[in-house]
Amino acid sequence: MKFKPADKIQDLQYFGEFGGVNPSISDSSTYTFISAKTMFDTFEGNADGCYLYSRHSSPSNLYLGETLAAMEGTETANVSASGMGAITPVLLQLVNAGEHIVSSRTIYGGTYAFLKNFIPKFNIKTTFVNITNLAVVEASITEKTKVLYCESVSNPLLEVADIAGLSALAKKYNLKLVVDNTFSPLSISPAKLGADVVIHSLTKFINGSSDTVGGVVCGTKEFINDLRNVNSGASMLLGSTMDSLRASSILKNMRTLHLRMKQHSFNAAFLAEKFEADGLKTVYPGLASHPSHMLFKEIMNKEYGFGGILTIDVGSLEKANELMELMQHKNLGYLAVSLGFYKTLFSASGSSTSSEIPKEEQVEMGLSEGLIRFSIGLDNNIERTYQAMKSCMISVGVL
Ligand SMILES: *Cc1c(COP(=O)(O)O)cnc(C)c1O
Repeated sequence: MKFKPADKIQDLQYFGEFGGVNPSISDSSTYTFISAKTMFDTFEGNADGCYLYSRHSSPSNLYLGETLAAMEGTETANVSASGMGAITPVLLQLVNAGEHIVSSRTIYGGTYAFLKNFIPKFNIKTTFVNITNLAVVEASITEKTKVLYCESVSNPLLEVADIAGLSALAKKYNLKLVVDNTFSPLSISPAKLGADVVIHSLTKFINGSSDTVGGVVCGTKEFINDLRNVNSGASMLLGSTMDSLRASSILKNMRTLHLRMKQHSFNAAFLAEKFEADGLKTVYPGLASHPSHMLFKEIMNKEYGFGGILTIDVGSLEKANELMELMQHKNLGYLAVSLGFYKTLFSASGSSTSSEIPKEEQVEMGLSEGLIRFSIGLDNNIERTYQAMKSCMISVGVL
């Protein structure tokens, strides 16, 4: 049987300075030059392979970036100190004062707050749309629009973007399609579906150990060089640089990403099916009842499944809080934001990670108060977890 891998991570091979099986960590902020001329050329961007100063690039950051580019199938990538440290420079690089962004309305709260409250001070306006309706997206594009922005799987409603359809629109109107793929690493490959720029918060699944924040921008060499340009690059000038020690530890964690994603997906699918069968209002893209199920199925890299995130709606914030506190007490997971940890993490989205979104808008987009977002962990015995969660649900009266 022919097996076509979704990514090229397995082909990579990096050695350490003395033949170490892990690449050496670059423990320097600055680099010496043998000739002054080469230093000048490096400043001008004309000395490939030379390092100048670690805010610009460092060997450890380049190794991690190249691994992420191999995952997404882009020419190259630039890592940053956080996911927001990847998103904000990309938008500021692509859009000038007086120009316009069309964005999905269901995006990460921090990104929403940036677009809604922060970037208008540069006279950049954003129209928030239902990204699953291409006609609405197209109708929102104006002469000033420069960027279409979305998440492949949105937070917390798990709507799936039709990346190929959005890419066709982006090409028609000469826009850049920027996709945040944080919720679906390996499962969905936005660049292969036509995204121009793919962003991740490495903080979540990719690092997977909830011990650091980090981010990455994957794209063409031309765009990544623009971001890093010493005179005009938003990543270089805004300075959200990842530390080399962190880059090397995230690189090591990436070696188990494929195994972790399969287990997260397996466990989440198991629980989603059980919860739905029990009569809970359950949202998971792997369920046939999910509005984006067919689309996800069509575009996904099958072996990695439908991802590790699901939501249930228990009716009220009081019930949600009661249930989450009990599940934490029973050691079924932690009442915490973020995702991609080995332990299950749960939070009520409306009052935590999406609290930047005003209440009326939350209601309009279908984000109700009793919605609990679960990032399902790597539990070895998910049946036992299910039984224990079910007891908690019965105790608090949501089942
Ligand atoms: C967490 C998250 C971000 C922000 O990443 P940080 O690493 O916290 O800066 C952006 N997008 C999505 C979808 C996220 O979940």
